[in-house]
Parts: sequence; structure tokens; C-alpha cells
Amino acid sequence: MAMIPYGRQDISEADIEAVVKVLRSDFLTQGPVVPAFEKALAGYCGARYAAAATSATSALHLACLALDVGVGDVVWTTPITFVATANCAVYCGASVDFVDIDPQSYNLSVERLAEKLDRAEKSGKLPKVVIPVHLCGQPCDMAGIHALGQKYGFKIIEDASHALGGRYKGEPIGNCRYSDITVFSFHPVKIITSGEGGAAMTNDLALFGKIARLRSHGITRDASEMISAADGPWYYEQIELGYNYRLTDLQAALGLSQMQRLDEFVTKRQSLAARYGELLKDFPAITPWQHADSYSAMHLYVVRLRLDEIKASHREVFERLRVNGIGVNLHYIPVYHHPYYARQGFNATDFPEAERYYSEAISLPLFPALTQDQQLEVVRLLGTPIGHQTIF
Ligand SMILES: *Cc1c(COP(=O)(O)O)cnc(C)c1O
Repeated sequence: MAMIPYGRQDISEADIEAVVKVLRSDFLTQGPVVPAFEKALAGYCGARYAAAATSATSALHLACLALDVGVGDVVWTTPITFVATANCAVYCGASVDFVDIDPQSYNLSVERLAEKLDRAEKSGKLPKVVIPVHLCGQPCDMAGIHALGQKYGFKIIEDASHALGGRYKGEPIGNCRYSDITVFSFHPVKIITSGEGGAAMTNDLALFGKIARLRSHGITRDASEMISAADGPWYYEQIELGYNYRLTDLQAALGLSQMQRLDEFVTKRQSLAARYGELLKDFPAITPWQHADSYSAMHLYVVRLRLDEIKASHREVFERLRVNGIGVNLHYIPVYHHPYYARQGFNATDFPEAERYYSEAISLPLFPALTQDQQLEVVRLLGTPIGHQTIF
């Protein structure tokens, strides 16, 4: 029996045709499809500018660079995220610190953020940038984070890798109303895919210009940005140190084609999540909470086991589901647990909610093509007796 994964892409014949069309065209890389994908993203989200990149990781790196994150700066984020959210600041020479999560939304807690900012102001070590993550697609309290940004003078990058297609206070995630830059991921497990891929959204022309330049070696072909007069029509200048973080037309064609089903994907995820909620009604587990003000893109369906009511450990529940072909996962290991970050001397007792979450959380399979039967199987295996031991 094939493993039911926790997430997977949904590719249509139209998606395949869109990619093949690029293969038959003049440009595989920097043709017309990348700008068309960017335009579709900006239009969907209601942001002025979208810059596609090779991944959310590279888009996060570009976002930090555009906001001048560098040596001596501190960037704060949530510990319950993928490591890339923290790594982007380290790439720039900055150091990273964490803010504990909210026990209900599992996102960075605005109360803990306010307390930590108050202490940081007194010790003169305020963050330059804060990176909230819309975990599972559930929007963060962006109005609260933005208000603190105004008070303490930090910039905001939304890591919306899970949240394309979601809404906050009635508006699309990615419109950057409460942030400087919003980043999406198009990795195959995410809401839509371009294979690998990501994008940085912003309403600020200067930030967009910087991101666009840095993703292509720091090179400009715009005379107004050049230091010297052009030597001739071939001329361009590298005016700063950039990278090759360019998405290709091949990838953008897949992403653009997938945009047509974005709302359908999220609606399907929402209805599967609602069904999990029904099926798990009497289980000793906490199902995802939804803020009345927002609409989650529902990238992940995380339940928290009530371990005091279960006759099995967290690890045993995982092992049994995995042995039975259910690809459950844990999103995420607190970032400061990873040896690379642990060496920097974080103290787990500073993040009690993240620790509690990590001891109880389990991501059940959720993706648009998950069938009702597969979903029943997941729930049956989660709750039925195995061997002589009853889990619930
Ligand atoms: C997937 C993910 C990333 C990285 O995305 P890539 O496109 O694979 O680089 C970053 N942050 C979060 C929260 C993610 O889930």
C-alpha cells in the first residue's frame, strides 16, 4: 500500500500543457511567462509588485537584503516554523531570536512580542525585522504586529509560505497592508506549486527594485541606477552583490496555470478540514482553531493530542500511523532545537508554549486530492485499538 503523504501537489492536464508550451517556445528561462505569473500573483493578492524567485527561501533572503538586514542586526521570528524563516537573516550576517507562540493560533504571540520588545528597548537591542509566519495558513494578528512595528520601528516580512489564498480581515494575504514584504512558497506540498519557486510581494517600488536586482546578481540595465555612463549598447553594471535567484519560465508556466485553481484548492482544503473536525469531534485531541476575522488557506491540518487522555505516547501515535501507511508529520521542531541554533545558547524554558505544542502536535494528511476514504482511514487508525493497546 502506498503511503498517504501529509501533502502533495495536484497537477492537471492543463498544467502539463502549459509547461510543454514553454518547452516549444523561444524562452525556457527569462521569457514572458515569469512576468505573467508575477502579474497574476500581484493581481490576486492586491499588491503593487510581485517578484518571483527560485524558492521562498531565496525570496526571504532577498526580502532581508532589501530591508538592509546585516551584521549586528537582530531578526525575530516564531520558533514553530521551517528553518528557512530564521536562516534568511543569518545569511545576511544578522542574529536571530524567537518569540513564543500563541497557544490557540500557534502563531507568534503578539502579547509575548510586546513584552519582549519592552525588554529589548530597555537593553537597546530592538529587532530590525520581525518575521511572522502564517502557520498552517492561519493568518497572524497582523494589525497587532504592525502597531508594534510602528511603535518600536521594526520592519515586517510575512512568511506566507502556507497562506496563499487565505484572507485576513476580508483581504487577501499578500497585499502587504500590514507588512513591508510578504513571501510565498510554491514547493509541491504548498497551496500551489511551480516545482521549486517562491515570490516576494510588496507595495514599495524601491524595495521591489532592490529585490529584482539582487535576484539577478545585483546587475542593473537601468541607466538611472548606473554609476558610470554607458560604454555602449551592450552595457550593464553590477552595482551590488546579488545572486542568481531567478525563477524560470518553465516553472512560472506551472505556477501560472495552478493559479487558475487556487481558490478551488483552498475550498477543497477547507471542506476536508471541516470533515476532519466532524470525524474527530469525540477524540481527545484539539482540532485547529479559526479566527472569526480570517480565512485560513489550510495548508496543514494540525491536531494536538490530549496525552493525558490517551494510552499512548506522542511518538507511539506517530509510529503506528506511519507503519500503517499514513504519512503524518510534525510541523515543526522548534527552530532552536536544531544543533545549528542550539549552539547559540537558546533556553527552551523561554518558549513554554512552543515546547508544549511540540510535545502534542501531529499534522494529518491534507491535500486537494485526499479522498473521503483515505480521510476515514486516517481517523480510524488514529483512534482504533492496535494490538492490545487502545490509544483512545
Ligand atoms: C516551505 C517553507 C519555506 C521554504 O519554502 P521553499 O520554497 O521550499 O524555500 C519557508 N517558510 C515556511 C514557513 C515554509 O513552510
